[in-house]
Amino acid sequence: MSEDVRVRFAPSPTGFFHIGSARTALFNWLYARHGGGIFVLRIEDTDRERDSDEFLQVIFKGLRWLGLDWDEGPEIGGPCGPYFQSKRSDIYREYLEILRKNGRAYDKEGAVFFKISGEPQLIRDAIHGDVVRREEKDFVIFRSNGSPVFHFVNVVDDIAMKITHVIRGEDHLSNTSKHSELFHAFGAPEPVFAHIPLILKSQGSGKMSKRDSGALIEDYAKRHFIADAVRNYLCLLGWSPKNDREILPIDEIISLFDIKNVNKNNARFDEKKMSYMNMEYVRALPFEDFYAHAIEVLKDSGLNFLARGETYARDVLRICQEKVCSLGELPQFVSYFFEANFECDQKDVEKLKKKCDIGTRLGEFVGQLSALSSFDEESLEEYIRSLCEKSGGPSGEYIHSLRLALSGRSVGPSLYAMLRVFGREEVLRRIERFL
Ligand code: GLU
Repeated sequence: MSEDVRVRFAPSPTGFFHIGSARTALFNWLYARHGGGIFVLRIEDTDRERDSDEFLQVIFKGLRWLGLDWDEGPEIGGPCGPYFQSKRSDIYREYLEILRKNGRAYDKEGAVFFKISGEPQLIRDAIHGDVVRREEKDFVIFRSNGSPVFHFVNVVDDIAMKITHVIRGEDHLSNTSKHSELFHAFGAPEPVFAHIPLILKSQGSGKMSKRDSGALIEDYAKRHFIADAVRNYLCLLGWSPKNDREILPIDEIISLFDIKNVNKNNARFDEKKMSYMNMEYVRALPFEDFYAHAIEVLKDSGLNFLARGETYARDVLRICQEKVCSLGELPQFVSYFFEANFECDQKDVEKLKKKCDIGTRLGEFVGQLSALSSFDEESLEEYIRSLCEKSGGPSGEYIHSLRLALSGRSVGPSLYAMLRVFGREEVLRRIERFL
């Protein structure tokens, strides 16, 4: 790839940062980083009525959270600031003069119109192949209130910023003949276009909208998803490394990514898969990183997780690390370790009652417990095995009964690990309370 790749992400701050925009930003960023190119962030804020600072901040925050760092932006004094179209009016006026001089712009009803050529426009798209479209009508480039229109500023900036590849959502394919007309009118070379297919919602044929669950990037941050996991998942919406692997470090994705390998077909969003991927990332975290992140989440939740000391808290988190889909679930997932007055799920109790006599199984367990010399996982497993042999009952009956008595629910970390972490006294206390 040429050294001179220059791509841009050009959001309009008119709505929240959703998964489709994030993926557009990501594909641009990957393409730039792959080829040692430049990734420009350009805020398309010429629509004064719909733009808002809140949305702008959400976009910045989302990009930073995903680790999509941008280059350039001299208007705010040096590298790494974005460009704002609202601050570029002089440039747009200059470019308008060019069109006026060569007879391609004229005034009508207070607005400025662009005079189209009417020729069919051949759009060479790196993903869709050649597409031919023809514009039928002249279109407005400056509104009567003097503000420039999207098509005009978008193309002027792509020329002025020497953008080589326009990677954006497929919803813009239909605008591209207008853009192509403008590039020609300025005598500027066209960039390579790459229109990325849509993201469909998890069910049906509709496009994912901002109201669909899982659509907003900020929600993932709020739910304490791992940013790397979300980014990894987004990479797979329309692109794949073609080696059957899905969980890949970002450096590897950068080296494999090519816009030519983006799939033409629409990608379907799968929230379960996103959660699964997040779980894999949580599991793979070094324990100290997991712990540091986990205690932040627990602090925010108000759970008194240090009630039994830090060693105990660490033990609890260690045995839960590989069981949670996201860190956001943690407070709920571990609450009973820190609170003795947990609720017991009556439905689960009723269900288990139909299968076995919970009281008898717990009684048998308590029976010889004091004789157990060591309270580690192996000894506990061995102990339950010996109870099964004596009674002829399946181990599941002991395990499920104990889990309910200790935690009030039927899912959680390994039962033996749980017993060890609680310790003998607490186990007895909880069983007694349960009975
Ligand atoms: N501001 C446009 C948008 O948010 C950008 C289109 C483009 O990338 O060219 O959809």
